[in-house]
Amino acid sequence: MPRPSPVTDEVRRLFETQERHAWSIDELLTSVRSSLGAADYSSVFRAVSLFEREGVLDRIDLGDGRARFEVRDDHHEHIRCERCGRVEEVPVCVLDDASAQVHNLTGFKVTSHRVVFGGLCRECGA
Ligand SMILES: [Zn+2]
Ligand SMILES: [Zn+2]
Repeated sequence: MPRPSPVTDEVRRLFETQERHAWSIDELLTSVRSSLGAADYSSVFRAVSLFEREGVLDRIDLGDGRARFEVRDDHHEHIRCERCGRVEEVPVCVLDDASAQVHNLTGFKVTSHRVVFGGLCRECGA
């Protein structure tokens, strides 16, 4: 077992604040540094990997080459701001009808999908 570290505690706290829906390692590192003063990339990465192994966090891939982590939750879609990169949750699955349509068009039994909406967040769109 790795020793609990201030970085691990701070990463846990950041996920609990729900200040962001999903965090990249870089975003976590910036916030951890602003509260603790110093932290290195590898200790943030280790904290996140630990929580992922414990099943607390899920890694999500929104197709922009940047791994993000979110608190494990039921299936939902995401929307990403094309200007600042902020990611938010689309709180309901908006694709149930589309799955039926995909089934009709392909004959596949649809068991999953991954969709990322793009747009401008409230701040960037103002
Ligand atoms: Zn934005
Ligand atoms: Zn999410």
